[in-house]
Amino acid sequence: MSLSAIIAENVWWICVVAWFVLRWPHQRRARKEPVRTSRRDTVDWAVLAFVTLCNAVLPFAYVVAKVPRFANYPFHPACLWLGTAVFATAIWLFYRTHQNLGRNWSVSLEIRREHRLVTTGIYQHIRHPMYLAFLLWGLAQTLLLPNWIAGPAGLIGSATLFLLRVWREEGLMVEQFGDQYRAYMQRTARLVPWLF
Ligand code: SAH
Repeated sequence: MSLSAIIAENVWWICVVAWFVLRWPHQRRARKEPVRTSRRDTVDWAVLAFVTLCNAVLPFAYVVAKVPRFANYPFHPACLWLGTAVFATAIWLFYRTHQNLGRNWSVSLEIRREHRLVTTGIYQHIRHPMYLAFLLWGLAQTLLLPNWIAGPAGLIGSATLFLLRVWREEGLMVEQFGDQYRAYMQRTARLVPWLF
């Protein structure tokens, strides 16, 4: 295994640990935050379990045991720099979204008792920056881990989270905030400003 490949897999797990360290205080606080409406159903639990499999379990198995072996391929050193830059961007974005959402954040589809629509910071430009951060994680994982299953699994997991969440979440927000959210949708992009 080349030195750059060894560094790359270390970058992967350090970034994943950083991600969970950043989330930890929000997770703890969220547990105590009263909920008004919840759509935390079987579908949403299944989505979260699938993301955990794709973005944590499969890549972790690769990093510790290099499995599945048949899917390994030689690592290109440029992927180390690119993957590190993409993961660093994802973590920065993830940090900002938590700062902006504050007490309104929830790991699932929920409306808090004191829920406020956030339209400032990153949310001034895009409606789903946290899901964008997850997609960037998936891309970074693909670049950093030279395995056809463990690498792209991150993109598949993050894309599933985005696709199965976004319509329901926007529906919930329209239900809750009505014309305020519709007007917010008019002036923002879902993921990439001026594009999508
Ligand atoms: N989709 C957003 C937020 C993900 S967290 C993003 O990708 O950044 C999911 C929770 O955030 C949902 O339960 C929803 O109630 C809440 N939420 C989503 N957008 C919000 C906004 N603009 N203001 C306040 N809460 C929001």
